[in-house]
Amino acid sequence: MKSSAQHASSPASAFPRPRAADEAGPGPVARSTDLFDKARQFTRLREVQAMGLYPYFVPVHASGSTEVVINGKSGVMVGSNNYLGLSHDPRVVAAAQQAIADYGTACTGSRFLNGNTELHERIEHRLARLTGKEAALVFSTGFQTNLGVISALVGRDDAVFIDKLDHASVVDGCRLAAGETVRFRHGDLDELEAKLRHSRAGGKLIVVDGVFSMEGDIVDLPRIAELRAKYDARLAVDDAHAIGVLGATGAGTAEHFGLTGEVDLIIGTFSKSFASIGGFVAAEQVVIDYLKHHARSLIFSASMPPSACAAVLACIDILEQEPDRRLNVWKNAARMQEGLQSLGFDTGGSQTPIVPVVIGDDLLTFEFWRQLYDNGVFANAVVAPAVPPHESRIRTSYSATHTPEQLDFVLDVFARVGKGLGVI
Ligand code: PMP
Repeated sequence: MKSSAQHASSPASAFPRPRAADEAGPGPVARSTDLFDKARQFTRLREVQAMGLYPYFVPVHASGSTEVVINGKSGVMVGSNNYLGLSHDPRVVAAAQQAIADYGTACTGSRFLNGNTELHERIEHRLARLTGKEAALVFSTGFQTNLGVISALVGRDDAVFIDKLDHASVVDGCRLAAGETVRFRHGDLDELEAKLRHSRAGGKLIVVDGVFSMEGDIVDLPRIAELRAKYDARLAVDDAHAIGVLGATGAGTAEHFGLTGEVDLIIGTFSKSFASIGGFVAAEQVVIDYLKHHARSLIFSASMPPSACAAVLACIDILEQEPDRRLNVWKNAARMQEGLQSLGFDTGGSQTPIVPVVIGDDLLTFEFWRQLYDNGVFANAVVAPAVPPHESRIRTSYSATHTPEQLDFVLDVFARVGKGLGVI
């Protein structure tokens, strides 16, 4: 794969960004233009909307853990990251409601000043224990966690090495960091090694996703851990899609491979398995203390609402008490990987509950999405720059609470739409 998943300026996008005056390269001072020209030239949006194929920002009117109601019509949701199916669990809902009664709806400030509660700190203790690290630090989103951690740690003389398919928040964290960013092709660890060998940077940080969000493949952590040791680098794993899912206790990719000691920074989100919103990093105590006082996205942004914290704590309890949930999500993932493959779909390199169906062409992907939607299946249409150009896809993801009947229904609809559109 040659292009970054997060190439925000990729010309191959279905919604290309017009070249702005400041991207025109060196030359005479550019003629003054209206800053909003780029917005006026962004006509592709209206074209796709006029075709009735626009798949984004769809307003949901009601939902259950695996169903959604859109425009009065209910469908099976296979486009969320509710891996443990806990977003509507009565225990989680009750915990969130109780926290509102106890603390109100918001902290109205940063943790640094007035917005820290004992709920935030309880999550940190629980996550340090779950991940096997000395300490953890809670941020308001996973995105902000990557921004804050990478930019605080990678100084002017340092370098950060990232997989080209790492999440956008990793890419943006690197943009904010003072040091050099070095990218390697997805999963190409020979290229990573060559770049580490030639690097003259002081400190080196390797950042990889544990599970890649649009591919559903698992990183080759054993080999990366070897490179970390060989080149004296530090290693961060963004475990947004692995926490609660991978590993014997749901502690993520490091636990899955038995390499907790080799991963210096375990980063995660609460917006998936933990059915809430927020993010965290787990690491040794001195690093957490440093980040607490240097991560700008932590210090200068309001903290997670108490209801969101209480939901996370309830989810961690349930993860520990009900290991069958993790087993169910894997059972459902296997059923759908096999089911979609045996229908003839290309599911890429999926090894997890994220199962893409690669279509290729943008418009065909939108058409496919629309027909799924019309037939009661809500999935995600993903085009460049979120995936490499010409690898547009329908991204599906499964939950512990999808029933066998729902999954058979989804397979049936995929078969009909896929045949109708000539994809299989
Ligand atoms: N990392 C990865 C790999 C993700 O998929 C996401 C969310 N899509 C994030 C980070 C950001 O997490 P959050 O939703 O909590 O901002």
